Amino acid sequence: VWLSFQKAQTNGIASVLAVESALTKEFLGLSIPHPDREPKKHHRSYIARDENEETVKNERDCLEWAQKRARELLLREFGLPSARRFSVEALGILACHFQWPGEFLQAVKERFDFQDSLEAKVFLTGLTQIIRLTSAVDLEGASSYFPETGGIDGGLPKRLDSKGRSQIRLELSRQSNEKHTIGFLPAKKDDRQPKERQNAIVSYYRKFLKKYPSEEVLLWLFDELLQQGFFVRHEVGRQLHWELLNLQASESDWYRCNTCQQIFHLPDLQQLSGRSSFAVDCCLAHRCQGQLRPFRGEELKDHHYRHIIRERVILPLRSQEHTAQLGTEELAKRESLFRQGKINLLSSSTTLEMGVDIGELQAVALRNFPPHVSNYQQRAGRAGRRTDGVAITLMYGQRRPHDRYYFEKPTELINGKNKVPKLDPDNLEIQKRHIRAELLANFLRDARALGAEKIAMKAFLGLPDNYTKLTGLPGEALLSDLLQWLENHESASLLARRWLDRLGGIDRFTRS
Ligand SMILES: [Zn+2]
Repeated sequence: VWLSFQKAQTNGIASVLAVESALTKEFLGLSIPHPDREPKKHHRSYIARDENEETVKNERDCLEWAQKRARELLLREFGLPSARRFSVEALGILACHFQWPGEFLQAVKERFDFQDSLEAKVFLTGLTQIIRLTSAVDLEGASSYFPETGGIDGGLPKRLDSKGRSQIRLELSRQSNEKHTIGFLPAKKDDRQPKERQNAIVSYYRKFLKKYPSEEVLLWLFDELLQQGFFVRHEVGRQLHWELLNLQASESDWYRCNTCQQIFHLPDLQQLSGRSSFAVDCCLAHRCQGQLRPFRGEELKDHHYRHIIRERVILPLRSQEHTAQLGTEELAKRESLFRQGKINLLSSSTTLEMGVDIGELQAVALRNFPPHVSNYQQRAGRAGRRTDGVAITLMYGQRRPHDRYYFEKPTELINGKNKVPKLDPDNLEIQKRHIRAELLANFLRDARALGAEKIAMKAFLGLPDNYTKLTGLPGEALLSDLLQWLENHESASLLARRWLDRLGGIDRFTRS
């Protein structure tokens, strides 16, 4: 939100719609088509990492998704109470306000008997902030990945309906069975006296004005906010007109409550302090009797979240798979994109263990504990080859004896002895396999000018496409040729003999 605001703002102010469209653009840059699964879900309108990136396969447009995400973030920052602790607003970074027309302020001043239209402005600013933070806003179409729902697709905060719109609305008074309604007028007891406990909005009138305003004045305000366009109708009630809100980066006009410590932005309050007969500096938080005191953003300069929001740059995480199931060409392409930084996360199998050049890594995450010291060294050793970086290797231990053992004794894996691989040339099985492989390769190369990987087993056996059971070897099978080649060809027996000599002599072979 902060990044997008900076792109959308002029003179430190931007409409919430302009920020939404900048945010949408941010999301289009972050949204990455997954190349390996569900090609239908590839996104058309995301911002490609370069002009050569394939877009043909991208059938689905993600503009709508990006917009939904943008709305979700804005709603979370400025329209839901749940994120209030760490929102850009609560941290004194961005304020969210309406622009009040002078004539309307004048009218509010007269109706509420304010001395000054600045009092009307501070009152309306506070009131609409409270309404906004109860979620009574008309923004629709937010996506549903809210962290408060566990980020589950389809999960929505309780206040939102299936269209991603807040169900909270204002009505003049609330019936006891209306869950999503907030009363605009004071709730009354049977004897027509105001109840002791009132909602956040009504409590604010009493705090600010030091008494309840007359019902007539509140009825006027309820309608006038609609006439002026700040309220819109929603079902039988009303919500704040989201589109009219502006976001503002401001170093001044921030206040902190001396009791609950919450931070609020109230322009022009400074000019009223000490000369208003109303409680213009009352805290906006419900049930808080504290007073607002001037606050400077620098006081929070070491705040973790404030620091993250203001200083950090978002890095799109573009991840792809690297496994032997992909063709060598595709793998080479991904390795190259990774070296260029256009992919920054490779999810790989052990194909990546040796020999593949993917350049420098900052971190390696291992899904399990590698079987041997050598595997650990090959995998973990990919990170931090240069001396100027800090590398991280994270191993994820599973509930099995191997992982548990090394979890208890990590140094045995990290610093253990590396076994030197060895081969027993006297092993008859190894000799047999090796000679067979050599013979087959020779046959294919000399007789057919083929490499072993270029021939399918079905073709080798000469099987038709739709065979179900092998009854006899078809005459045209390469296998028949191979058998003949082995029988008759001189070079075949020469080759076998040469290998037997090298592996320890034909005598030993025939003896065993
Ligand atoms: Zn407070």
